[in-house]
Order: sequence, then structure tokens, then C-alpha cells
Amino acid sequence: MSALRLSGTPGGAGTFLVPSRTRPDAVYRVVVSDEGVWCPCRGFGFRWDCWHAGAALATVATERATAVERRELARVALERIADEFACE
Ligand SMILES: [Zn+2]
Repeated sequence: MSALRLSGTPGGAGTFLVPSRTRPDAVYRVVVSDEGVWCPCRGFGFRWDCWHAGAALATVATERATAVERRELARVALERIADEFACE
């Protein structure tokens, strides 16, 4: 699973570079938008689904999970600081 984000905000819509699993020289530019996902490869043209689209969506999902985790860590840290001040 290796999609490289080229544009957009982590966890949201954007453009991704996804290498082909079968052709080492091939790279696909996958677009993830609010409406869905699009890949220029032949497989996607036939089935509206492919490994590259899946890889890009998985990367977005990972970015979202990481963002939630970071917010939670920041919230806990702020609560600790608030507690310390409350004890003074
Ligand atoms: Zn594809």
C-alpha cells in the first residue's frame, strides 16, 4: 500500500501517485474527490475499481485516523496543563 499524496489536505480530497504493481515503470495519478475516486488505468475503465484507487483511498483513511489521534493527544495534553494550573 503506497500512494503518495501530491495535492490536497491530508485526510481529504486530492491527487495521489500510485505505482503499478505489475509494471515497475508505470505510475498512476489517482484523483480522490468528495464525489468519489478516479484512476486512469484500464482496469478502472472497465470496473470503476482498481488496486490504485483502493491504495489512494486507504491512504486517505490512514491520514484521517492519524489526524483524529493527533487531536486526541493534543486534547489530553491541554487537559493536563489545565489541571496543573487549577491546582495552584
Ligand atoms: Zn488503477
